[in-house]
Amino acid sequence: MSDTVGVDLGVVTPQRAGEREIERAAPSRSLAPVVVAVSAGSPAAEAGVEAGDEIVRINGDVPRDIIEWQMATDEADVELDVLRGGLDLAFSIEKRVGEPLGIDVSSAVFDRVRTCDNHCEFCFIYQLPKGMRRSLYLKDDDYRLSFLYGNFTTLTRFTEADLERVVTERLSPLHVSIHSTDPDVRSQMLKNPRGAMSLRWLRALLDHGIAVRGQIVVCPGVNDGAVLADTMAGILDRFPELDSVAVVPLGISKFNGEAAMRLHTVDEAQAVVDIVDDWQDVFQATLGKRMVYAADEYYLMAQRSFPAAERYDGFPMHEDGIGMARTFEAEFHGLTDDATGVRRGFFAAVDAPPNPAAYTGLRPTTSCGSGGDNEGPDGDVACTAISLRPRRDAPIAVLTGELGAPVIAPLVDSLDRTDIRVVAVRNEFFGGNTGVTGLMTGEDVSRVLATEPQGHRYLLPDVCLSDEGRFLDGLTVTDLPRVVEVVETDGIALRAALEHP
Ligand code: SF4
Repeated sequence: MSDTVGVDLGVVTPQRAGEREIERAAPSRSLAPVVVAVSAGSPAAEAGVEAGDEIVRINGDVPRDIIEWQMATDEADVELDVLRGGLDLAFSIEKRVGEPLGIDVSSAVFDRVRTCDNHCEFCFIYQLPKGMRRSLYLKDDDYRLSFLYGNFTTLTRFTEADLERVVTERLSPLHVSIHSTDPDVRSQMLKNPRGAMSLRWLRALLDHGIAVRGQIVVCPGVNDGAVLADTMAGILDRFPELDSVAVVPLGISKFNGEAAMRLHTVDEAQAVVDIVDDWQDVFQATLGKRMVYAADEYYLMAQRSFPAAERYDGFPMHEDGIGMARTFEAEFHGLTDDATGVRRGFFAAVDAPPNPAAYTGLRPTTSCGSGGDNEGPDGDVACTAISLRPRRDAPIAVLTGELGAPVIAPLVDSLDRTDIRVVAVRNEFFGGNTGVTGLMTGEDVSRVLATEPQGHRYLLPDVCLSDEGRFLDGLTVTDLPRVVEVVETDGIALRAALEHP
């Protein structure tokens, strides 16, 4: 996995203590974190830590992950052993407790990401085409990534030691895949006998006061209908302390090889929405909270209106596709000053987390495409000059996935402007039901843009790009046949881009 985590631990009073040779033999550092940036003026910078230094130990211990790293760097006295160009160096740094060290490191997990031992037929990773970057094929099932990134874990590899650490370090909230509370159905869905019993860890986490958000991936004919209703009852009976539970449809790509995995029919989607609606009332009456929420995708598939904003109870599972349409709408209409934001794409923990400096709002001076608008007479592409952007009053196309289009189109229509259109990008790269905007690929956007007129403004939501500016298929905005403006994926940013080019 190629996680990259920028940990800015702030500025503190530094004291350089010189460098000394490390006496102990260095441990295996094949996955050791590397310093990728040192904040100017920070304690680490003053002590002499440099980008490229490989972290060997901190305060005498080999940190296993960014969580341990952060706890260690919170100390007032930090002893840092690093490897630089074959030399072992050590730094003693004094600062105030809790004040940042000023080091960004290269990964979130320094030992090994715990991979899952399940073989779910609905797993989207099995449905990826060959040849994508390797990190996308990593099936993680690691409670640390659940805590850090909101990845869902099935707990099939969870241990007593993990529980102790989670409780001791208060790694909360965690995100747990439930799918079904019926042991047989769950183990069948995970294709793992341990799936039958691993929800005992969920009970243990809740017993220790760890906040947990649940998820049910619904596969038609497997865990919908009566099984889904039973799961609702199981949650009420066994796990009422859960924060909330997202009910989401399985994703199907054209590379799906499991005959039993298929798209929902409209009737099946409507049945899921009805079960969730009914059980919201039950949970509300018994627990005082709605507990379960169906993904926006379900309302689109079921051809139903989205629930009113207040029925999302503060949008606790917004990042899981629950209530995004309503938050986007409120943002677009100026009903809130704060954007809720979305995680960057499907593989949020695989790619680098958002880098505000790289992707804040429109980036017209760094977004470009080849050919068309910006191509000079010699075929050169000038992509850094703002003067080569389309005219400010040029017609605007809002690029979005096929599932995003029915959400955004009414908002754009409400502006009563004839110069704005919504362009739905059909996902032919993955096919199936992959209509979410976060799965748009460069290949598909290129195909669509190639048929669009030159000289128009094309707004591209940043959710389909990694922090490094890459689509899932590896292309970047510079590979596109038209200039695009990358816009944060929220209603406030879109409205600003439309009204203040
Ligand atoms: S637990 Fe997740 S990663 Fe593992 S096989 Fe199932 S869907 Fe895939």
